[in-house]
Amino acid sequence: MYYSNDTILFLNGKFIKAVDAHTDLYSQTLHYGFGAFEGIRAYNTLNGVKIFKAREHFDRLKNSCALVGIPFQYETEELIQIAYQLLRKNDLSDAYIRPLVYCGPQMSLVRPQDVYLMMCAWEWDKYHGDSLLKLCLSSYQRPNPNSIKIESKVTGHYVNSVLATSEAKVRGYDDALMLDMNGFVAEAPGANFFMEKEGTLYTPATGHILPGITRQTVLNICRELEIPVVEKNIKPEELEDADGAFLCGTAAEIAGIESIDAKPFRKEWADGLGTTVQEAYKCQVLEKSFSYVII
Ligand code: PMP
Repeated sequence: MYYSNDTILFLNGKFIKAVDAHTDLYSQTLHYGFGAFEGIRAYNTLNGVKIFKAREHFDRLKNSCALVGIPFQYETEELIQIAYQLLRKNDLSDAYIRPLVYCGPQMSLVRPQDVYLMMCAWEWDKYHGDSLLKLCLSSYQRPNPNSIKIESKVTGHYVNSVLATSEAKVRGYDDALMLDMNGFVAEAPGANFFMEKEGTLYTPATGHILPGITRQTVLNICRELEIPVVEKNIKPEELEDADGAFLCGTAAEIAGIESIDAKPFRKEWADGLGTTVQEAYKCQVLEKSFSYVII
């Protein structure tokens, strides 16, 4: 599903076939989840194939490594060039790009010496943030920011996400919405959260969430469109009288939420601010112009 016999990936300075790539089973990343990764989208835009927010993603990859002490030497510009080469070599346009920084053999709980980079990509549907999600409040909380580096995209952190999404699916929902350790709304397992109430958007403040690149894009869109937006602690009770809500993330794009714990929102998705943000985001990733008339 992710690769075929012809797929090319980047591994430690070389482009090689995915089927010929191998790794060390004694890798610290495999045993302890000590590695860092990114999830990046490329779109077939009006101006050719473009990686959306490439600089922000590769800067975050470097920052994730720096935050946890993984020595990672690549420059952002170099990483962007590798990603574009990877797309060309695999003839991809609408694609998902996955760089992974992983560590060499190390069974001790110390910082690694050998660090490697793998980057791969696979075809991803055209813009797909259209169907509405049914979410449930998760029994899993987001991790305590004093126990991990919450702002880094470290592989091991995703055990929490896998547990939450799997639980939601078993319960018949599309995905989960998680609270933080203080009982405030935090985020979905792989996306940030916004809700609408009386013409204003609200999103959880930073501190207990991964501050997503898409979240920042949404904040910028709101500033441009003069949509009021407030970053604050959101209590779960506040979800009950919200007019609407959406998730946002590189993979999720802007995904409207139909209901949380089977309770629908007051407004139809098509009538809410989320639709406007979704349309503006879609135009931005596809490099189309967007016009918005405030009625
Ligand atoms: N939160 C978590 C936990 C995530 O894994 C992601 C996906 N990277 C996001 C939020 C959204 O981040 P971004 O918009 O940078 O993709």
